[in-house]
Amino acid sequence: MRFLTADYLFPLYITPIKEGVLQISNDGRVISIFKNRSEVPQDKLEIFEGLLCPGFVNAHCHLELSHLKGNAEKGKGFLEFAGTIRKRDDFSVFEKQNAIEKAEQEMINNGIVAVGDICNTSDTIEQKQKENLKYYNFIETFGVDINKLDVVFSQAIELKNEFRAAGQKASIVPHAPYSVPPVLMKKINNAFDEEDELLTVHMQETKEENQLFENKEGAFFTWLNGMKANVSIWENRNKSTDILQELGDKKVLLVHNTFTKKEDITDNYYCTCPKANLFIENALPDYSIFDTDKLCVGTDSLASNDSLSILEELIVIQKNSNFDLNTLLKIACKNGAEALGFEQLGTFEKGKTPGVNLIKSLAENKITKLI
Ligand SMILES: [Zn+2]
Repeated sequence: MRFLTADYLFPLYITPIKEGVLQISNDGRVISIFKNRSEVPQDKLEIFEGLLCPGFVNAHCHLELSHLKGNAEKGKGFLEFAGTIRKRDDFSVFEKQNAIEKAEQEMINNGIVAVGDICNTSDTIEQKQKENLKYYNFIETFGVDINKLDVVFSQAIELKNEFRAAGQKASIVPHAPYSVPPVLMKKINNAFDEEDELLTVHMQETKEENQLFENKEGAFFTWLNGMKANVSIWENRNKSTDILQELGDKKVLLVHNTFTKKEDITDNYYCTCPKANLFIENALPDYSIFDTDKLCVGTDSLASNDSLSILEELIVIQKNSNFDLNTLLKIACKNGAEALGFEQLGTFEKGKTPGVNLIKSLAENKITKLI
């Protein structure tokens, strides 16, 4: 049994408590919260400088791309970045596995307890089976040639089954509006079963994506035509967000939203990956457009980021929004846990096992994982 206290306690389901105390079992189950230090046995009180909050949820990552760290050049735009990703197989199994293990350890050190992870391969399964972190695995599909979609989809089903057989949560998801024709959306929609909780999709990460749907022109239009992409991708979709209708009324986590406008916002969950946006596009979303009860935070992969730290993402968001500290921590913990369906995480509510992070100050970028 431990009684943890700091300058501020951020339970995240109620307002922050100055010098509040968190009573927690040795294995990390929240027992109670006290508003005053005088209410608890003084000899058991562990007093820290800074703030205490639950473990972070990284709502968007690609753990399997960790070996690409440092391979992409900054600020060159999405199409150039996609070229780096195409070189993902020019590495040995050892290099990939080593990078995955290191990246997971980095997330643990940075106070992350759960991850929404995009998967195109089974490379991460072995590491995930160690259960160091909780994962929701999103089996990503795409294909601009509609003649190849049966093969694409049967491979995705196989991969989903492989993850589920390993005891992991896994769902088949579309990559992005510009890479998934309606016929593939339909397959994804139809394959949604009772074990699936939500879908995720990359959304409005670039200006070119909006140009493709709104004006049928621009660099993505040229790029897709160069690949002889099927016209159904853009011909009856006038906005990226039109694909949401093709997914029915399922829970969806929309990722990036860098070029999303206020009128595009739906009641779905949204995820921002600010450092990756700066890395690839040198742009950030307009944070004033989001519902802060539905906004989550992700790191994206080490291919487009130099760290896997939710705290570092929060520092960027703080500088570029008017979110207060409680809101910043809420989007980093509670909302991601809700979006990914990790009910035991995200807040210091009684009975949960959310992990405990000690942060000295946001600006200092220093985090200690207490539990
Ligand atoms: Zn991504």
